[in-house]
Amino acid sequence: MRKLRRSSLQLPTLAGSGKGARAAADDATKKQADSSARLSFKGREHWREPDVIGALHSRHGHVCAYCGCGLADKEKGDVEHFRPKGKVTNAPEHGGYWWLAFSFRNYLVSCWHCNQVIKGNHFPLRPRGKRRTASNWSWGNEDVRWLLHPEDDVEQWMVIDWRDPLCEIQPRDGIPVTARQQVVWTRDFFRLNEEPAIGSRVRTKERVDEALKTERFSEVQTAACRYQPHSLFVRQMLSEVRPELIPDEEFELKWMIKQTANKLKRLAIQLSRNGLSKAEKALAKEYLWTLAALWKEPPVGASSDVEALLGEFGLKSRVQPLFDRL
Ligand SMILES: [Zn+2]
Repeated sequence: MRKLRRSSLQLPTLAGSGKGARAAADDATKKQADSSARLSFKGREHWREPDVIGALHSRHGHVCAYCGCGLADKEKGDVEHFRPKGKVTNAPEHGGYWWLAFSFRNYLVSCWHCNQVIKGNHFPLRPRGKRRTASNWSWGNEDVRWLLHPEDDVEQWMVIDWRDPLCEIQPRDGIPVTARQQVVWTRDFFRLNEEPAIGSRVRTKERVDEALKTERFSEVQTAACRYQPHSLFVRQMLSEVRPELIPDEEFELKWMIKQTANKLKRLAIQLSRNGLSKAEKALAKEYLWTLAALWKEPPVGASSDVEALLGEFGLKSRVQPLFDRL
């Protein structure tokens, strides 16, 4: 898990008169008329719109926010509702955090395994923690959860032991007791010290070891970039063995922009040869939204750095109209 700044992106789908914002207003009206009304989200999955997916990738890359494993090339990852929208396991009376169904701040990118096999509708609270409802909810006054979120100080609290053959995750010594408990809880809940997460971390370590041995340093730097699988682990390892190879913020942003620019280029070639399928057109939109969201609200570094890099890659004028809508 990588540390993220809190987002205040106003995405067209979810803000103003966007489809998601309208759906949220409809739900609120329904619940106001009848607090026990059941909401269905089928056919209203507006979190799959290109602006939302693109913005999520600008924060997480193609990496699961929970286990840190990479998503396959063609896999977008699940848009995971951190607080479950429909119902909460073991709290049947609650009915879910329906008012956060269309809230970008409640979304994370997750792999299928973490979202659908493990997390489902679970959202455990600390003992005696009161579960918030729509009437007493506000950001900053949330219910007291067990699971870590990327906006927590996760990079300070989690240590991945690169000397251990299984690269196990542990809480860092000396952190507050509650943080320690949350690390242990999250690690055990998502089975981060079990397969498949362990195997994926071990393979990452082997690749980085090999690149270090053969002095392929740009490969090492790329592996420590925030958009790469298990990059926190690679950074922690490098901080002890080769701290000078830890990439700076500009490197990370540039890497992401370059990757996205290359994907757009491939689609442009495809367009000129055979045209684009509906799915490919949506992909192109997502990539452009990724760049716009990066520019508006980069997870590290400054917006002006992204603007300069987009200029370097000849993409600024293409991204500008989307940036202006954020
Ligand atoms: Zn995962």
